[in-house]
Amino acid sequence: MERECIFCKIADKEIPADIVYEDEEIVCFRDLAPQAPVHVLIIPREHIASLDDIADSAAHVGLLGHMMAKVKEVAAGLGLSNGYRLVSNCGKDGLQTVGHLHFHLIGGRGMGWPPG
Ligand code: AMP
Repeated sequence: MERECIFCKIADKEIPADIVYEDEEIVCFRDLAPQAPVHVLIIPREHIASLDDIADSAAHVGLLGHMMAKVKEVAAGLGLSNGYRLVSNCGKDGLQTVGHLHFHLIGGRGMGWPPG
């Protein structure tokens, strides 16, 4: 755990969040500033700063696989039967504002494209 990381604190229940799913490896909670009717953040419990900090190791590949495999279950639990968008902002140009890897699961309305 990174002492000053807000998402580590959420994963450790040091600060409150509206958690919609959690297991040994990941936590999913509602975004404080939702950009759509449903906006949930999917984070690993392990502090990894961003997608750019994923190692080509069995542990990280397995963790990412677990996160991706859970998306449809979390989305179904949130009623996103018409589809959704999964986004990870990475670094300065990607407009990442919290330095703990997270995927935005966004849905409940039609999305626009291109993003940004
Ligand atoms: P990003 O800008 O991609 O790094 O996304 C960070 C997201 O974290 C933003 O959508 C924020 O609204 C959200 N956020 C920041 N602090 C909290 C918090 N304490 N609980 C829930 N969501 C948060």
